[in-house]
Amino acid sequence: KFGQWIKDNLLLVLIIIGVVLALLIGFLLKEHSSHDFTKREVYYISFPGVLFLNMLKMLIIPLIVTSVVAGLATLDVSTAGRMGWRTVLYYFCTTILAVILGIILVVAIHPGKGNPDDMVRSGQSKQVKAEDAFMDLLRNIFPPNLIGATMEKYKTFEPEVEDPGETTLNATNGTADNDAMLLIMSDAPKGGMVSGMNVLGIIVFSIALGVTIAKMGELGTPLVIWFVALNEAVMRIVWIVMWYSPIGIMFLVLGRVLGMDDWATVAGQLGMYCVTVITGLLIHGLIVLPLAYLIFARKNPIKFLLNVLPALLTAFGTASSSATLPVTIRCLETKARLDKRVTQFVLPVGATINMDGTALYEAVAAIFIAQVYGYDLDIGGYITISITATLASIGAAGIPEAGLVTMVIVLTAVGLPAEGVTLIIIIDWLIDRIRTTVNVFGDSVGAGIINRYTLRDFEKQEEEQFHGVDAI
Ligand code: ASP
Repeated sequence: KFGQWIKDNLLLVLIIIGVVLALLIGFLLKEHSSHDFTKREVYYISFPGVLFLNMLKMLIIPLIVTSVVAGLATLDVSTAGRMGWRTVLYYFCTTILAVILGIILVVAIHPGKGNPDDMVRSGQSKQVKAEDAFMDLLRNIFPPNLIGATMEKYKTFEPEVEDPGETTLNATNGTADNDAMLLIMSDAPKGGMVSGMNVLGIIVFSIALGVTIAKMGELGTPLVIWFVALNEAVMRIVWIVMWYSPIGIMFLVLGRVLGMDDWATVAGQLGMYCVTVITGLLIHGLIVLPLAYLIFARKNPIKFLLNVLPALLTAFGTASSSATLPVTIRCLETKARLDKRVTQFVLPVGATINMDGTALYEAVAAIFIAQVYGYDLDIGGYITISITATLASIGAAGIPEAGLVTMVIVLTAVGLPAEGVTLIIIIDWLIDRIRTTVNVFGDSVGAGIINRYTLRDFEKQEEEQFHGVDAI
């Protein structure tokens, strides 16, 4: 029986072995060898992982477009509308819950006392006005050029360059993830809703196209077939890439461990901050979301968690919801057996706008920074933080460190100095991975819950059609 289980879950077992090996080898090498790994060496070591990331990113655009269009085009318009509202409602409620949980914890634990100068910090960053950030979000919804929206800005790897520009945050620990962040910061028009690709704009266009095709009737049929077939083809490529994921994730994690700073630098206040964020993320991921699943989907959340585990580990390895999307869809369709029409809409949208982990982190981090700087927040301040943290999590792209960038919005909204983010930058690589895992689990639970209600709609429809035939 155990042999059968291994056989059924071979990929998951391989991924877990990969992660465990990476952690073991990484920490052993770090502790027991006198060698200090340079940025270049770390990059070489993580290279198989970089290839994995590229494969996933390559699939994002074809997958999102074909999934959303095929999913919506095969639904009737009223079911699609109801599913849309449920999705938005679920995303909004769970995000707010996460923010409130974060605020309660950070106020109760109070990790930040005292003087910002005592803490590791450096550099300066740009100020972002909340209204600019909001307009950025709206602008992204309507991209002027669809092809342009799919372009990822290309950056060559330059290990020697420590400070890519004066307007960017000056991270002292030059690690791969911070490189990603520096890239984001330097590309940011206003520092707000930035990503390599404008996934939000692509989704909005795909929704419009899918709904329109559904309304076209017979004339739209060839398009439906085309998109459904193309989606199936892309999913088959995803399946191939997933067999490479144990190796990819292993080298991503290994590179990350080797490039890590010493734990000593993270002691004290920053340590308490980490404890606060991680506690919040664990409570949300292991208690709140499973409870929501149990209550609303009426199914066993532990089994569900096991089904999406490959996606969660990919999220931890890549620190990117968007890059994890192909794996998330695949797990939910084949393992959790959700309806394709649900996953195809709920998951791409979720990977882009639903980030419970990020929202929780933004609230905790902003209040932590306020505590360190000795700012007294009143109730209005907390409300502002809740709202802006929610918005900032919606605006954050599903790429590494995006939350760190959009946090500037939260800070500016309550009048805190934007360079406050430099207080937490050093440990963000870890927090990013954990919050991304929670983000992906939040999307998955949403798909599970919405699946139940949408299936009911389908049943009702079929019944009506049946009776309709009866009447004739
Ligand atoms: N890395 C996160 C994600 O992709 C976003 C963030 O930085 O919070 O979900």
